[in-house]
Parts: sequence; structure tokens; C-alpha cells
Amino acid sequence: MSHPATNLHMIQSRIAAACARAGRDPSQVRLVVVSKTRTPEEITAVASGGQTLFAENRVQEARDKIPQLRAPGLEWHLIGPLQRNKVKAALEIFDRIHSVDSLELAEEISKRAERIRPFPVLMQINVGREPQKSGVLPEQALPLAQAMATLPGIVLQGVMTIPPQSLDPEAARPWFQALARLRATIAAAAIPGVQMRELSMGMSHDYEIAVEEGATLVRIGSAVFERS
Ligand SMILES: *Cc1c(COP(=O)(O)O)cnc(C)c1O
Repeated sequence: MSHPATNLHMIQSRIAAACARAGRDPSQVRLVVVSKTRTPEEITAVASGGQTLFAENRVQEARDKIPQLRAPGLEWHLIGPLQRNKVKAALEIFDRIHSVDSLELAEEISKRAERIRPFPVLMQINVGREPQKSGVLPEQALPLAQAMATLPGIVLQGVMTIPPQSLDPEAARPWFQALARLRATIAAAAIPGVQMRELSMGMSHDYEIAVEEGATLVRIGSAVFERS
């Protein structure tokens, strides 16, 4: 087996073990393979092993790469910052956007998507309040969810975060708990049309902690593509 296939297998079993520790059903956790910077050949290799869900962080890179893949029927998520002038292109490529962090961006997506279908998105939250990071501040999350609910072309399905970096995966746990609490707060507001199913959190070095804390989408790049 090539190393991506071996890595995928190992990651899936670690996700299952984290689910068992937390008393969760593994079918509630989806592995999103982050393919940014990887070649079409590398991505095709992972897809031929049965992986169907992939993510990119730049519209232009995805637009150049996806047509070169020899693997039909894949699902693509956008996980990086999105400029308003790239929304039209993004909606043509992606099935879901994890990184909505302003009303202006949500309005542009709604406007462009309205005639096609309500477009599923997650709200990115800057739980660690880091100035250099994208995402709304925690106290802005509920008001933004309420405002997004009035837009016809967008459907809010959950929240996403990239916590402050640390060498110790355990250091991410309080941030994952903070995101889970924010999801619960928004869900408790019972905003019509807002679903709050998804918790997009956890990357290569901390996904097991994220799964223990309720992640439904884990975004994993290097642990899939690189030798461990
Ligand atoms: C690159 C990236 C990931 C994956 O990171 P790895 O450490 O390679 O697993 C996850 N989420 C976002 C938003 C990213 O940009």
C-alpha cells in the first residue's frame, strides 16, 4: 500500500478509538482530506482508495487542480478565507464553505446562490481571539447567525475553528470545548432555518482531541499525505 492509503487507514482507526472513548457513533464524524499544495496525482491516489470528501483553502488552486483529477464524484469543501470577488467561482467548485466570517460575505454568497439552491456554509469563529486569524469573535457568532438566517440563498449548518497553535495537542481541548459551547448557544436560540449540525475542528496533530470533544468534520492534510 502507498503511504496515503496506510495513513488513511490509521487515521480512521484513531477516529474510531476517539469515538469509543467519548461514547460517540463513528458515523457522526467525517474525515475531510485537506489537499491544498498536493498534486493532482497525489489526490487521485487518495480518491482511488475510496475517500470522497476533500478540501482546499484557495479558490484559484482548486479551480486549476480539480479538472486534472481522474476521480469523478468527489465532494469539495472550501476551508480558507474567501474574498467577495471570488464567491461566484467558489460556488461553481465547492459544495460547502467552512469559512464564512462576515455578513458581507454571507450576503454575497446568498445573492449568487439564491437562484441555484440555498448554499450550505459554516461560520468560522476565532475562539482564541488571535489578531492574525480569520473568523468572527465568539460574542459576534450569535448575532451573525441571526443575520444569516434572514438571507434566502445561504443555510448555516454549523461552526468551524482553527485554534491557537501549540505543540501539545491537549492545549487545543479548551478551544474545541469553547466552539462546542458556541454551537450549543446558537442551537439553543432556535433560529428558524439554522441547523447547527456541524462542528468543523481538528487537524493532523489534534484531531483525536477534537473528536472526543464532538467534532463532526475533521480537516486533515499532512497526516494523510506525508510519511509518518
Ligand atoms: C491546512 C489546513 C488544515 C490541515 O492541516 P494539517 O495540519 O496539514 O492537517 C486544516 N484546516 C485548515 C483551515 C487548513 O488551512
